[in-house]
Amino acid sequence: MSAPDYYSILGVSRDASADQIKKAYRKMAMKVHPDVATDPDAEEKFKQVNEAYEVLSDPNKRAIFDRGGDPMGPGGGDPFANMGGFGGFSSFGGQGLDLGDLFGAMFGGAGSATRGPKSRVRRGQDQLIRARLTLSEAVFGTTKPIKFDTHVVCTTCNGSGGANRQEPVTCTQCHGRGEIIISQRSILGEIRTAQPCPNCQGYGNIIPQPCPDCSGQGRVSEQRTINVKIPAGVDTGNRVHLQGQGEIGPGAGPAGDLYVEIQVAPHDIFRRDHDNLEMVVKLPMSLAALGTELDIDTLESELADCPPDRQKVHLEVPSGTQSGTRLVIKDHGVPSLRVNRRGETPRGDLGVTLLVQTPTKLDDAQRELLGQLAQLRGEAGPEVMTKHEERGFFDRLKDVFTS
Ligand SMILES: [Zn+2]
Ligand SMILES: [Zn+2]
Repeated sequence: MSAPDYYSILGVSRDASADQIKKAYRKMAMKVHPDVATDPDAEEKFKQVNEAYEVLSDPNKRAIFDRGGDPMGPGGGDPFANMGGFGGFSSFGGQGLDLGDLFGAMFGGAGSATRGPKSRVRRGQDQLIRARLTLSEAVFGTTKPIKFDTHVVCTTCNGSGGANRQEPVTCTQCHGRGEIIISQRSILGEIRTAQPCPNCQGYGNIIPQPCPDCSGQGRVSEQRTINVKIPAGVDTGNRVHLQGQGEIGPGAGPAGDLYVEIQVAPHDIFRRDHDNLEMVVKLPMSLAALGTELDIDTLESELADCPPDRQKVHLEVPSGTQSGTRLVIKDHGVPSLRVNRRGETPRGDLGVTLLVQTPTKLDDAQRELLGQLAQLRGEAGPEVMTKHEERGFFDRLKDVFTS
């Protein structure tokens, strides 16, 4: 049960000053914050960084840690300290090893002066759920009803955990202290150790008749549906943070936070590249040579409330267009999630790459016409491409065929 190395988590030396620790924490917290980091472990790393800072910024906890003790135990001060922030996404089931008891056992109840009874009320865990969006929902934003399993306050007992809404009563064995003192005789004299009260499991009070609906937990499981507002411009891996929308804690404790992680389904036509949208248009050889115009349905046209002037874009293909040419339509890409210095949210571009199609299955008449054309033009035979020409050509095509 050793604590993680908080110094290496923050990347500071063991003799770092309070100021250095604060600076290192800010830098790390910004880097791994789940709202900005795409790393799937960001949540866990952010939690570790916060825990490290909580310990190293508190001289008492830091001293305990430096001595090899567990600074997150009850001797470490504020009993709610490690319940705030991130509870993590896995549910620990509630009946895990109590670090407080372990600490008490290791140090012979040295922390007993500050222990007191355990609270039945704890903060709920943070929850992570996933929302699958279409590309247009992600690009333009939407409000989506999302269903998830969570805990809510038990309405039968109103969170008290007692039948008939009865509040817990003070434990008669420990008189509300939550612990009892055991005296043992030894050759060194009498040794007194504190242990959690077996009658109330350390809570200092008991629920004489638990609520039948929540078994005294003060909360029940329920499936909830909430409407989540998804901002325009989100991408796979982004998380929407909804404070206080997670599960209610044991004993009807304050709700944890809810994180909605975005997953964007691939689109048939459009591909996202940062803030640009990319698409490919096939162009018959003759039209590439002669030049043409075309109207393209925008991604925006999938939206029910798309303004008429944004449903299509007009594209002029100049005569003599080569395969792999990318035409750019400004301001028809993805709105940026970030506001720029002028207070605007810039939009990326729509890139249209043209692939010239060579005709196949020519009949005799067509074959003859093409032959005449080649003759009229005095076309030379195949020509070897230089390295320089080659590079530009393959660079253009590479992007078109990725993803
Ligand atoms: Zn209940
Ligand atoms: Zn008791």
